[in-house]
Amino acid sequence: MANKIQAIKGMNDLLPIAQKDFPITASFWQAFEQLTIQWLHDYGYQYIRTPILEPTGLFVRSIGEETDVVGKEMYTFDDYGESLSLRPEGTASCLRAAVEHNLLYNAPQKLWYTGPMFRHEKPQKGRYRQFHQLGVEALGFAGMDTDAEIIAMCADLWKRLGIANQVQLELNCLGNKEERLSHRAALVAYLQENQAILDEDSLRRMHTNPLRVLDTKNPALQEMANQAPRLADFLGEQSRQDYEQLKNILNALNIPFIENPRLVRGLDYYNATVFEWTTTALGAQGTICGGGRYDGLIEELGGKPTPSIGFAMGIERLLLLVQATGSLKTIENADVYAIYSGTDAMIPLLQAVQNLRLQNIAVRTHGADQKLAKQLQRADASGARFALIVGQDEAASNSVTLKDLRGDKGQVTIPAAELLNQYQQWTEC
Ligand code: ATP
Ligand code: MG
Repeated sequence: MANKIQAIKGMNDLLPIAQKDFPITASFWQAFEQLTIQWLHDYGYQYIRTPILEPTGLFVRSIGEETDVVGKEMYTFDDYGESLSLRPEGTASCLRAAVEHNLLYNAPQKLWYTGPMFRHEKPQKGRYRQFHQLGVEALGFAGMDTDAEIIAMCADLWKRLGIANQVQLELNCLGNKEERLSHRAALVAYLQENQAILDEDSLRRMHTNPLRVLDTKNPALQEMANQAPRLADFLGEQSRQDYEQLKNILNALNIPFIENPRLVRGLDYYNATVFEWTTTALGAQGTICGGGRYDGLIEELGGKPTPSIGFAMGIERLLLLVQATGSLKTIENADVYAIYSGTDAMIPLLQAVQNLRLQNIAVRTHGADQKLAKQLQRADASGARFALIVGQDEAASNSVTLKDLRGDKGQVTIPAAELLNQYQQWTEC
């Protein structure tokens, strides 16, 4: 036998069954998608879909050359002379499309997207090379009401998924460009004073992305990071006021948060509000959703200045959490399991089945490969509520048998034309 070919490490198949190292099933994922479509509709967001490949320059310019995502994790290749990359996140593409198609001409936009993202990271639980995000972008909204609304929107989703008490909101304010630059100068000076104790990552980031040094997970550097100059002390009046206002609105909406002055996020384009939703239930991969303001990014990508804010959640991480502790219901079972025996019964059965399906009744079929009794066992195991049976006798008399597999209704044999009536009677009560 030939060797089996296996999927790329860190890229998962989504299957009808749970896998040992990837327990999320396709129907669970679909239940999530159904729920989120309603949720996004409730908040007035419109769907947008962009290509998975983009010119590499889009990500370099938006996410930033010195970030881990662009510097180390992107899948980039030469396409006959043009450098292309698999998208590592969704915001850049979404804004590229909004600018390219003039969506923002005198009209703010609330957009959402979902789909696979690609990062060449070390695969582990909750960290994959192909993973999926769902994100929203509110483009052309300057006020803190929008910041509060999109945070409230997340809080609402956690409730709908039954994980509200498993997650916490971390919040920070990154200020504007000038404020960040003056803080950066003070920070670099401080890091230089402490150069002797810095690890390799921190030494590299000291000049490229010093704020990220404060985000270090290295226990030996925590004290140094705690004592470092704080961005909060460099914020001007407007930034401070905005941040206070956002916290006031969140309090008024009963959304608890933790201020984390060291929260910086991994992408360069953020300013002012940044936030993350984290959990302790998933081990090291604890961030299920992150977002913030990116007021300068649309201009950076060739559009007019457009204050904007968005977030993206990692669907795999979120669903691992929902599966472990949440309450998302999956609709897996069919309403009816249809079985027949004998060639004469095949067409009457298929006619009856199609009539049920026209009424949005879910029917599963399996062909007459076994005796009726065996097929009935299979119907029972399927979880369907009813069995629809057409045997030789039914076929001869143009009738069908409906059998209640879960309740106490027993079974009836009725003219085929009365099937729908009978089904409705039995399901109404
Ligand atoms: P982390 O710090 O965990 O690497 P990040 O800051 O790189 O996350 P973002 O770029 O903000 O993540 O992406 C938003 C969300 O997408 C994350 O909060 C996480 O839930 C998810 N995510 C990011 N990278 C991965 C990955 N490699 N595998 C699975 N989910 C991911
Ligand atoms: Mg990352």
